[in-house]
Amino acid sequence: MAETNQSNYMEKYKDPRLVDKECVVDSATAAGFLRRLVEFTHEAGFNREGYKELIGEICQAYHLSKGASEFYQNAGMEKIGEGDYFCDFDDGHADVVLLRNRIITNSGAVIVSTIYISKDTELPSLQDYYNLDLMLCVITAFISRRLLQRTVEHFVFFDENGYPNIRFFNRQLMILEQKGKLPGMVAVNLDLHNFAITNMEIGRENGDTVIQNYFSMLEEAIGDEGCICRLGGDKFVGVFSEKVKGRIITILSGVPVVYGENEDRRINVSAAAGIYEIPMTSDDFKHDILEAIFIATTVAKRQDEGAIVFYDDKMKETKEHIKGIQRKFREGLQADEFTVYYQPKVDINTKKIVGAEALCRWISRGQVVMPGEFIPILEQTMDICDLDFHVLDIVCKDIRAWLDKGNMAVRASVNLSRKHLVDPDLLSHILKIVDDNGVPHECLEIELTETTTDVQFRDLKRVVNGLKDAGIRVAVDDFGIGYSSLNLIREIPWDVIKIDRCFVPGDNDDEKSLTSLMFRHAVALIKDMGMDCVVEGVETRKQIELLRENHCSIAQGFYFDKPLPKEEFEARLLQNGYQ
Ligand code: C2E
Ligand code: CA
Ligand code: CA
Repeated sequence: MAETNQSNYMEKYKDPRLVDKECVVDSATAAGFLRRLVEFTHEAGFNREGYKELIGEICQAYHLSKGASEFYQNAGMEKIGEGDYFCDFDDGHADVVLLRNRIITNSGAVIVSTIYISKDTELPSLQDYYNLDLMLCVITAFISRRLLQRTVEHFVFFDENGYPNIRFFNRQLMILEQKGKLPGMVAVNLDLHNFAITNMEIGRENGDTVIQNYFSMLEEAIGDEGCICRLGGDKFVGVFSEKVKGRIITILSGVPVVYGENEDRRINVSAAAGIYEIPMTSDDFKHDILEAIFIATTVAKRQDEGAIVFYDDKMKETKEHIKGIQRKFREGLQADEFTVYYQPKVDINTKKIVGAEALCRWISRGQVVMPGEFIPILEQTMDICDLDFHVLDIVCKDIRAWLDKGNMAVRASVNLSRKHLVDPDLLSHILKIVDDNGVPHECLEIELTETTTDVQFRDLKRVVNGLKDAGIRVAVDDFGIGYSSLNLIREIPWDVIKIDRCFVPGDNDDEKSLTSLMFRHAVALIKDMGMDCVVEGVETRKQIELLRENHCSIAQGFYFDKPLPKEEFEARLLQNGYQ
C-alpha cells in the first residue's frame, strides 16, 4: 500500500460528536473481531461465507447499516466511476457515512471502503470509532490483497492474448480428477494444419483472427462440458466429455472460419490432432493424459494432411523403442558397432565394377541391424550426422587401405542425410575426414537426396557447389520419388543422377505404361544434360535389357549383388567381373 489517509486520522478523532461515552462493543469483543478479520487475510483461512458472516456480526454489533467497497484499476477510472462494487452488509438505511478509507496499492489500483449508519442511530463512542477504523483498515487491506491475487491469477492462468494456458488446463485436469470426473472424458492436443502458410496468405493479423474464431468455435462446442486452452501459436489442448466429441471432431476435420469484416472472407481450417479417450481406470491421470495426446499428435503430424489420430498403447511402445534406439546409438558408436557394407555399381556392358555404395549396418549383439530400423529414427534428431561422419571415416580408411595394397580401388559413394544441409561447416568437416585419411578426392562420391523447401534448396546448392569445387563427385539419390523438380537438375551441377527403383519398370510393365514412358524420358534427359545415370534396384535380366535399350550403362541392384561385407566386396573387386 503506497498511500493511506494517515493525515485525516487525527482530524477524524477530533470530531466533537464522538463524545466520550459507553462503548457499544467491549474491548475484548472488538479484539476478537479484529483477530478473526486478520485470520481471514491468511488465504488458508478464507471462506467467503465465514467472511460475510463476520462482517455481518461486526455491523450488527456496532449498529452499522452498510459496509461497502469500491475497486478501481487506477485513479483515472475512479474519477469516471468505472470500477467494481462489493457490498457485504446492507440493511438499506445507509444515510450517514461513518468512516471512509481509501488506499492506493503499489500497482496504482484504488480501493475505497465505506461504512454507514442510519440517521436514527447514535454516533459511537471514540473508542468504538477507533476500533471500527482499525477493522476497516484490515478489511480494505484484505480486499486489496484478494483483488491483487485475482489479477496475479489472471496472469498465471491466461496468456497475453487472454487465452487460458497450460497451467489453466493442468488445474482443470486436477479439479476434474478430484471430482472423479476424468474417466470417460476425452483429451485432445491440436495443431492447426499448415498455419504458417495461412499466415503468409492472409496476413498475420487476419491469421490471429482466424485462430481466435477457431478457438471460439471449439470453446462454444465444448460449452460446460470441459475446457480448451492455448499452448501458444496455433497449438491447443482440451478436455471434454464424450457428449461433445462428435462436434469437436467435425471442427478438427476442417471448417470454414470467417476473418475480416465481411462474412464472405473465409478460410478452411483443419488440425492435426491427437485424441486420448481417458480409460475408466488409471492411476496417474495428468501424466498419462498429456503424454498420450502429445504422442498421438506426433503421429498425426507425420501424416501429410491434417489428421486426427486416436492414441493407443502401441504408440507409447513405439516412442519407447525410439528413445531406446537413440540411447543405444551413443553406446554403439563408442563401442564401434557400426560397420559398412558395399554394394557394387556395375557397367552392364563390360560387367565390371565401376563403383560401390557404402551402406551402413549396425552389428548389435551379433545381429545385423538394417538401416531401415535405425536411420529414420536417427534422422529425427541430429544423431544421423554423427553416424554419417563415422561412416565416411570408415569408408575413407577402407579406400586408403585398398590403395595402399595396390588393389584396384573403385570410387565409393557415401550417403549424407539432408539434416547436414543446415551445417555451415559441413564442407570443412567432410574435407577434414577425407584429408586426414589421405584419400584422393576423386575416389569419393557423396549421395544427397532431393529437398522439400526453398531454404533447403539453397543450402543444397551451396553444399553441392562446395563439394564439386573440392573435386568430390556428387549424386542425387532416389531421383523420381518425393519432390523431384526439373529445377533440381537444372540449377544444381550434379555429376550423377541415381534413379530410384520405384521408377524402374518391373518385368510386368509394358513399354507403353506410364512408368516405362517416364523412365525412358528421364534417362534421355539426364544423358542429354551430360550427367551420369545410375539405375538403382535392378533385379532382373529384363531390366538390364531395358537399361541397355535406353543407353544407360550403370546398374546397382540385387541382379548383380546385394550390399556385401567388406571382405566379400574385396573378393569381388579382385575377381572384378560377372558371368
Ligand atoms: P539407399 O541410399 O537408396 O540405398 C539403397 C538401398 O536399396 C539399400 O538398402 C540396398 O540394400 C537396397 N537395394 C539395392 N539394390 C536393391 C535391389 O535390387 N532391390 C531392392 N529391393 N533393394 C535394393 P539398405 O542398405 O537397407 O539402406 C536403406 C537406406 O538407408 C539407404 O537407401 C539410405 O537411404 C539409408 N542409409 C544406409 N546407410 C546410410 C548411411 O550411412 N547414412 C545415411 N544417411 N543413410 C544411409
Ligand atoms: Ca544412397
Ligand atoms: Ca537410393
